[in-house]
Amino acid sequence: MNLIMLGAPGSGKGTMAKFISSDFSLPHISTGDIFRKNIKDGTELGNKVKSILDAGELVPDELTIDLVKDRLKEADCKNGFILDGFPRTLVQAEALEKFASIDSVILIDLPFEVIEERLSGRRSCPSCGEVYHTSTYKETNCQKCDASLIQREDDKLETVRARLKVYEKQTSPLIEFYKNKIFKVEGKGTPEETYAPVKKFLKEMK
Ligand code: AMP
Repeated sequence: MNLIMLGAPGSGKGTMAKFISSDFSLPHISTGDIFRKNIKDGTELGNKVKSILDAGELVPDELTIDLVKDRLKEADCKNGFILDGFPRTLVQAEALEKFASIDSVILIDLPFEVIEERLSGRRSCPSCGEVYHTSTYKETNCQKCDASLIQREDDKLETVRARLKVYEKQTSPLIEFYKNKIFKVEGKGTPEETYAPVKKFLKEMK
């Protein structure tokens, strides 16, 4: 199964992709995670994209397309994959058509107000990557490894708003582009509630 997770930043694409990856043994390919890892490791790519991510803007299409194209050539993608955060523009979606055939696009629907609240309250552990929310976790340090939690630069309210604008303008046209392949779910509930219909749909598709 070749899948795409579509939805605004903060709609829960990453969480859904992790569930699918574990239940259906598919690699979870998050372009955002790949960029963040490169930034953390101080690679040439990381240095190139850091300021773009911090501002909530999009990395140039060509660079992102090449990255995904190479990643999909790896052996673990033979039986399928889940793309999370790619494609994000029509140019990327059109390029993807040339090197992969997509079976289904899972769209998570969530109002922007809920997303703003979710993302701006998010705190991450810079050491182990665990993610918390200020509404449910009041501590300043990670429960798993005790590192001081941080707010990702791109989770600051101002940047969240910029990211949502970018989504509306550049990414939401993909809903029309993929209209025949979309399976839409409501993202307001708990991760498990959101995932239940997705799991059922994918099991039937298999
Ligand atoms: P994400 O974790 O998916 O929200 O991605 C974090 C950031 O990485 C985005 O705000 C962009 O700056 C960059 N990024 C991730 N995926 C893409 C993509 N497909 N095209 C361009 N930029 C991307």
